[in-house]
Amino acid sequence: MAIVLKAKEAAELVYSEIAARVEEWKKEGKQPSLAILLVEGDPASAYYARSKQKIAERLGIAFRLRSFGSDVSEEELQRVITELNADDTVHGIMLELPLPAHLSAAAIEACIAPAKDIDGVTPSNKLAVYTGKGEGLYPATPQACIELLKHYGYILEGRNVVLVGRGQTVGLPLFHLLQRENATVTVCHSRTPDLGAHLKHAEIAIVAVGKPAMITKDMVHPGLTVIDAGINELADGKITGDAAADLGDAAAAVSPVPGGVGTLTTAILYRNLMKAIDIQMTLKGDV
Ligand code: NDP
Repeated sequence: MAIVLKAKEAAELVYSEIAARVEEWKKEGKQPSLAILLVEGDPASAYYARSKQKIAERLGIAFRLRSFGSDVSEEELQRVITELNADDTVHGIMLELPLPAHLSAAAIEACIAPAKDIDGVTPSNKLAVYTGKGEGLYPATPQACIELLKHYGYILEGRNVVLVGRGQTVGLPLFHLLQRENATVTVCHSRTPDLGAHLKHAEIAIVAVGKPAMITKDMVHPGLTVIDAGINELADGKITGDAAADLGDAAAAVSPVPGGVGTLTTAILYRNLMKAIDIQMTLKGDV
């Protein structure tokens, strides 16, 4: 059977580092705090916001959930973000996606102060991912894919990595991070005619598409590790990834969904919050 690359242990390591830092800050009279903006209408994003809240409570991080009706305007969300940017008691800001069709995520996210942008969605943090220059906050899911591999002892330098998906959230930033790890990266997407042919030569496949069971048994081989970043909700409400459930011993290792990339992504969001606080303290000269 393929090795199952569960993320719980890696995530708990991140949480224990964070808990220790929160404790130190509290001794200095500082209270780390995160604000999440949630536009009603998508049950999954409401669920993810609540699960972030539970983790914040566990870590001793203050959590503000700002909920808006599904008819909220872009201007209203931008106004609230501008207020949160100016509020020194808020250290991280995140907008839950997806949004209703009348709202542009990019236009709203661009208003977040880069130093509070814990999911690396603002133009200046994207530039930091692409160039590797400056003190940027990088998006959590691409970091989680790499960290999960490293947790299990994988060395990326020189490895043949096939990235399936080139989306703004996962695939595109991950491409840049993998380059900086000196992996040899092939990017496949919806116009790639024969995905299986690329996977044949891969040692690692990282899949971020959003289509259940699109990576099938016949596409993988016993030397291939599959990191599955996909999150799909099936008709019966079950959450599944992009890899078929029956890859079994056809691959060397597979990350589970749930319990894989998503589990580590949440932990890394909170680690980004810690980095955001450091950046804000440096900007204020408070170090
Ligand atoms: P996008 O919708 O932005 O991108 C999807 C990508 O998949 C595109 O590049 C598209 O190609 C490609 N694609 C579509 N069909 C195929 C196909 N048949 N073969 C190969 N490639 C294909 O997705 P995101 O980057 O926003 O998210 C990707 C996945 O990651 C989703 O399932 C999402 O739910 C999940 N996700 C998981 C998170 C986590 O915490 N684990 C967090 C955020 C997202 P093209 O560019 O040609 O259109």
